[in-house]
Amino acid sequence: MAKLLETKNLVTNFYTYEGSVKALDNVSISIDHGETFGLVGESGCGKSVTVRSVMRIIQSPGVIEGGEVLYCDDAEHPEQCEDLLIKSEEAMRELRGDRISMIFQEPNAALNPVLTIGEQVAESYMFHRQRSMSRQILADVESGKISFGIFSPLLKWAYRRASENPRAPALRLMSKLPLLKLWGRPMRREAVNRSVGIIERLGISNAAELVTRYPHNLSGGMKQRIVIAIALACNPTLLIADEATSNLDVTIQAQILELLQDLKERRAISSVLLITHDLGVVAETCDRVGVMYAGILCEVADVKTLFNNPVHPYTRALLNSVPRFCVEGELATIEGSVPNLVHPPAGCRFHPRCKAASDICKQEKPKLVDLGNGHSVACHHIDEKIGE
Ligand code: SF4
Repeated sequence: MAKLLETKNLVTNFYTYEGSVKALDNVSISIDHGETFGLVGESGCGKSVTVRSVMRIIQSPGVIEGGEVLYCDDAEHPEQCEDLLIKSEEAMRELRGDRISMIFQEPNAALNPVLTIGEQVAESYMFHRQRSMSRQILADVESGKISFGIFSPLLKWAYRRASENPRAPALRLMSKLPLLKLWGRPMRREAVNRSVGIIERLGISNAAELVTRYPHNLSGGMKQRIVIAIALACNPTLLIADEATSNLDVTIQAQILELLQDLKERRAISSVLLITHDLGVVAETCDRVGVMYAGILCEVADVKTLFNNPVHPYTRALLNSVPRFCVEGELATIEGSVPNLVHPPAGCRFHPRCKAASDICKQEKPKLVDLGNGHSVACHHIDEKIGE
C-alpha cells in the first residue's frame, strides 16, 4: 500500500522559563492510503504535538526543530511527495481543511456561537473553492441565468478577479462594503446548499432545517457531527481526529466512530489518523497502531499483533493496566510517574519505570528496530521480550 503521510525524525521543543521541553524526540510514523492509524499513549506523551507539528499549528513557545513530514496524496505518483515543513505558510493555509482536515476534542471550542451551522460548514468550502465557484457564477451571469441589474459589470469584474486570485486585496475591500457584499451572496448560497448535502451524508435527516440553527441549539454528539461535516467539506484525503470522541458518552462515541469507519468505506476520506488514550477505541477501529511515551515512539504494529503480542515493556504495562471484568484483584498500574521533559531521563526515557531496565538502558537511546510485518520496537532487550 502506498504511503500517504510519513514523518521522519520529527523533533519539537517548547522553550519555557523552566527550560526547553523536549516534547518530540525523533518521531517517525507512516500512514498508508486507506488505513486507519491510531496513536496512543498517556496524556502528555506527545500525540497531539505530533499531529500539530504535521499540520504546522504548533504555537509559540513551541518550535519544530527538525525532521521531515512527507505528504503524498496522489497514490499513483508517490514521487510527487511534498515536505510540509518546507512549504510556505500560504501554501499550508490552502492545504489545511482542504487536503488534510482535523477534528478536535472539544466541539464547543471549534464552533463559532454567533454563526449558524450552515454558515460554518459553508465557510471552509468557500475559503478553499472560491476560484471554481467564481468561475461557475461568472458563466451563469454571462449566460443570463443570474443578473445583478446595474451592478452586473462591477460584479462580473469581481467574479473574474476572484476566479484568478480569490485573495486579491480589491476583493477583500469589496467584501467589506455593505452594498457590494452582495457579490458573495450566490457563492454563499451555493456553499450552504452543499453544506446540506454534506450533513445529509452524515446520516442527519433534517439537514435543511439544521443549517439554520446555532451551536447552542444542538446536543454534544450533534455538535461533534457538525465539526466532522466542516472537516469533510472539501473532501480531504486524510482526516486527523484528536481525541474526537473523548468527551462524549459511550453511545455517542460508538456512533461517531462508526460514522468515521463508514465514511472511509464509502471513500469520502482515504485515511484516518486517530489520536486517543482509549485502547478500546483503537482495538475497534484501527488497522495499525503507534504507542508513544514521553515524546518517543516505542512500538508500531498492526492492531492484532499489538494486542496479542506486545513487545515493548511500556506497551505491555499499558495493556495490563486496562480494567477487565473477568480479572479479579487489584488493577495493575505503571509505577512511578511521567518524566519532566525539561530534563528527560538519559538513554531510554522509560528506564526509571521499567522493570527490565539495565545499564545500557540508562545510557543509550534505543532505536526503532523492524521485527518484520510492519512491527517495530524501540527497546534494548527485544530478544528477551519476544515470545515471553
Ligand atoms: Fe526498558 Fe531498557 Fe527496553 Fe527501555 S530499553 S523499555 S528501559 S528494557
